[in-house]
Amino acid sequence: MREEEAGAGGEQRLRSDASMPMADQMLEGAEGRAAELAAPGLSPRPRLRIAVLACMDTRIDLFPMLGLARGDAHIIRNAGGLATDDAIRSLSVSQRLLGTTEVVVVMHDGCGLHGASEDEFAEGLAADGVLPTWRLGAFDDVEQTLGHSLARLRSSRELPARGQIRGFVFNPETGGLREVEAES
Ligand SMILES: [Zn+2]
Repeated sequence: MREEEAGAGGEQRLRSDASMPMADQMLEGAEGRAAELAAPGLSPRPRLRIAVLACMDTRIDLFPMLGLARGDAHIIRNAGGLATDDAIRSLSVSQRLLGTTEVVVVMHDGCGLHGASEDEFAEGLAADGVLPTWRLGAFDDVEQTLGHSLARLRSSRELPARGQIRGFVFNPETGGLREVEAES
């Protein structure tokens, strides 16, 4: 595995090391950095009153991409950046309890769910004796899938603020970010 480059901010960098679980490295790395990690007095209410729902993909670095800093926004991530029931639960908390009024959904080109097989995934789960209530969320068209998510969010009364719900697709190869409109 390629070694991570040194972080510009002097943050802790981890190494893939068979002899030591990452979790142990993380704990070790956080030790003695409390002053740097603490956010004394910082409100849990997002400063920019925005929640971002994004795919968990490793190539999406939301903070520099969207110009965010700690304290600015809620970040909700899942496989695909899909508007699942649980994503809506988090967005509902974000708006109803913590005052956000805007949502941005970020999907991307080259997603692991793009072209995946819903049936094969379900068969693998069934072979292990589990029949979850959720579905994988595989898709063939990122724009269309994002459009459906936007439409779902815009009609979700769990969210009191639905006037600013926008969707972007990131291209990890070019760094480009393009907006997708919801289907009307
Ligand atoms: Zn993805």
